[in-house]
Amino acid sequence: MRYERPQTLEDAAALLAAADAPAFVLAGGTDLLVRMQNDNFEADLIVDIKSIAGMGDIVQSDAGFVIGAAVPCAALSEDAALVAAWPGVVEAANLIGSTQIQGRCTVAGNLCNASPAADSVPALVAADARVRIAGPNGTREAAVIDIPTGPGKTSLAKGEIIEAVLLPKRAAQAGDAYLRFIPRTEMDIAVVGVSVNLTLDAGGTVTSARVALGAVGPTVMLVDAAAEAIIGTSLDDAALDALAAACSAASTPIDDKRGTVAFRTKVAGVLARRAAQTAYTRAGGK
Ligand SMILES: Cc1cc2nc3c(=O)[nH]c(=O)nc-3n(C[C@H](O)[C@H](O)[C@H](O)COP(=O)(O)OP(=O)(O)OC[C@H]3O[C@@H](n4cnc5c(N)ncnc54)[C@H](O)[C@@H]3O)c2cc1C
Repeated sequence: MRYERPQTLEDAAALLAAADAPAFVLAGGTDLLVRMQNDNFEADLIVDIKSIAGMGDIVQSDAGFVIGAAVPCAALSEDAALVAAWPGVVEAANLIGSTQIQGRCTVAGNLCNASPAADSVPALVAADARVRIAGPNGTREAAVIDIPTGPGKTSLAKGEIIEAVLLPKRAAQAGDAYLRFIPRTEMDIAVVGVSVNLTLDAGGTVTSARVALGAVGPTVMLVDAAAEAIIGTSLDDAALDALAAACSAASTPIDDKRGTVAFRTKVAGVLARRAAQTAYTRAGGK
């Protein structure tokens, strides 16, 4: 197996595109190195992207935030402007694993690993985040929600690398929140994950919202009916009930020892209600 540490995205994409056997991008390695221990894992080439300029940077601009694909999740919480603008995204990234895992893992890696239970993905989808993708034919952008296509599968073509995650600029009264249920207090995979992102007008009425669910379907899903249930309201009890019902109705979870279908379906609604209340408070709602 070959290990390469290119200095440019062009070289990284060219290496991956030229590979005629399984080839993988290496970011934090917290998924990839675990997979490499499996007997049936095959890789001919590992392309480490951490030496590429800009991949370790968080940049704020008029358009929002650009988070390089090699930025470890722990670094997100050290960026005060990012925490103020997107607390839900940061809290989701900081639920991944442990302090040690967060020192290595990346949100781009969390996305490309394509687990339906990935913690940062519902928060990114609720945030309407996009990714910048470098490939052998140049650069393109895509919505985060379009990257995972099923468990362990992505829409990335051969040779394509996520260069950065793009978070939009925030309106004045906006907030987001992510909550998950795990059977233990930490170091476990989400049985249900919910993210709510909303914007308020001066009177505290919700003017826009995005609600995303994780771990209750083959990919993270955006629940338009849940967003519609709270838009135009001040998040009163009736709106919260409708939001919870829409999230439960949208859930199509698996049944396993970590959570039955009935449990996961119910918890999706419960967490959506709580996440919406936190997002509302963070947006300045009373
Ligand atoms: C002990 C432990 C606990 C964990 N706990 C959680 C948890 O609570 N929640 C959770 O969601 N996950 C958890 N994980 C999984 C893992 O830590 C996350 O998915 C992490 O975000 C992966 O990021 P990474 O940078 O380490 O990815 P890597 O392991 O480097 O890569 C993951 C996959 O994505 C590909 N990839 C990485 N970066 C790119 C890129 N820029 N472009 C294209 N492809 C790319 C790789 O080729 C690989 O297939 C845990 C893992 C461990 C070992």
